[in-house]
Amino acid sequence: MKWQSRWPEMVAQNPSGDPLISLGQTLLRYHKKPMKRLIGVVLLACISAHPQEPKTLPQADERYKADILVMVAHPDDEAAVTPYLARALDEHKRIAVVFCTRGSNGENQAGAEQAAALGAVREIEARNALTTFGISNVWFLSGKDTASQNVLLSLANWGHAETLEETVRFVRLTRPEVILTFLPGTFIGEDHGDHQACGVLATEAFDLAGDPTVFPEQVAGPIKRLPFENLRPWQAKKIYYFPDAEREDIFRGKGPSYSVKEVSKLSGKPYWRMALDAFRSHQTQAKSYLDRIAQMDEAQIEKMATSDDGWGEDQHYVLGKSVVGGSVTADIFEGIAPGVVPFARPEVTPEPRRPDLSAELGGPWSFYAEFRRAHGLANLPHPEPPEIALQAPGTLVIPLWIRNRTAKAQEITISAALPAGWTAENGTGKFIVAAKQMAAHRVEVTLPAPVETPADKTAKKTEPQEVTVRAAANGQVIGEAKLRVELRKRALPQ
Ligand SMILES: [Zn+2]
Repeated sequence: MKWQSRWPEMVAQNPSGDPLISLGQTLLRYHKKPMKRLIGVVLLACISAHPQEPKTLPQADERYKADILVMVAHPDDEAAVTPYLARALDEHKRIAVVFCTRGSNGENQAGAEQAAALGAVREIEARNALTTFGISNVWFLSGKDTASQNVLLSLANWGHAETLEETVRFVRLTRPEVILTFLPGTFIGEDHGDHQACGVLATEAFDLAGDPTVFPEQVAGPIKRLPFENLRPWQAKKIYYFPDAEREDIFRGKGPSYSVKEVSKLSGKPYWRMALDAFRSHQTQAKSYLDRIAQMDEAQIEKMATSDDGWGEDQHYVLGKSVVGGSVTADIFEGIAPGVVPFARPEVTPEPRRPDLSAELGGPWSFYAEFRRAHGLANLPHPEPPEIALQAPGTLVIPLWIRNRTAKAQEITISAALPAGWTAENGTGKFIVAAKQMAAHRVEVTLPAPVETPADKTAKKTEPQEVTVRAAANGQVIGEAKLRVELRKRALPQ
């Protein structure tokens, strides 16, 4: 029987299912005689030599590639950068936004919802605000909205490790050229610990996402389909900050500034106006303000928004760092060319030399000193002396680190120089620090109500005053912690 006539039967007996393999194997099986076997082999060789088209290997999804990744803490914080984003859209930049929390601890002016339900509402408000710019690549970390000025409290409440892993994932997913975020530091201002924590995470992710040994399971490749994410390491090129501080002097000249009054090529509106339009989504946070605006005509809106509300002020950015060079005050995208740059390990500043006996300010202040050293941010502006604004009457807590590297226990005397009417309640006097130990200590100061003169009856704050805590041993001062403290009628807890 000719093999062609047995074709259906041959295919039916073939377990592989592949027609080419089937044909070759079956020919060999059915043609035992030498001449027929040779014909079969030649035919098989002809079939195998048929050229295979090269297949393109899977690449990262271009729909999620961003030129700018914005990282902010709460829904409505994006308003700090929307005028710049409106400008960036004119330049066809792709933008992604990550919110670290859903703002579930905030107020609700629009409805009765609170806590997690409010967070769900605010997530939609933020998405709607960004949709007005056509930005839909918007994600939320699992951070819990934490009302305090202490960055370390926010990081503890969020689960620092988990939220950092999420942040690194979003950097690797969006592959940003530039990251924009809050300045990691503590200042007189709103000084929200969540804003600071967001800047801390973004900075850590800037330095870590390009390192294949960091969360390596994210970049393990498709060894098995699950649970590996098959992302790639990504080094962003620049990180810029916007400060959550009242003072502006120390940030001037540390990065580029942008007018918000120029008119968008895309919308025909000034950038500030596009930002205000987007902000209208945030009914839970500003319903009464937005209702007032809704009653105004265009001229009134422009007068109010550009004179009193800060919508018309230039936007200032602080260059955190760049791995592609460029001058400090140049445009954010100066020196940035498309493509991958090598992973850049941060340049760590050496540990400061300390005497054998020393004392210094602790808490968030010492954290930030270490943070700037660890992330190569030695030039990041920070106030000297350090500062804070607190609600008064109330309590100021001054954390201290006391180091004793000597071979014997040391008696340390702690004293405080305070403005009139302020009292040191706890933490002054004599203390023993054991040999070769580092001790944590705190001084608590009771703050009086701000003194009002008839002229400042309507003022919500007073001029900052200086507090000094001194540590001495063997008759010698071993360290001083200075703080500038402003008393206010309202401020976030320390
Ligand atoms: Zn906020």
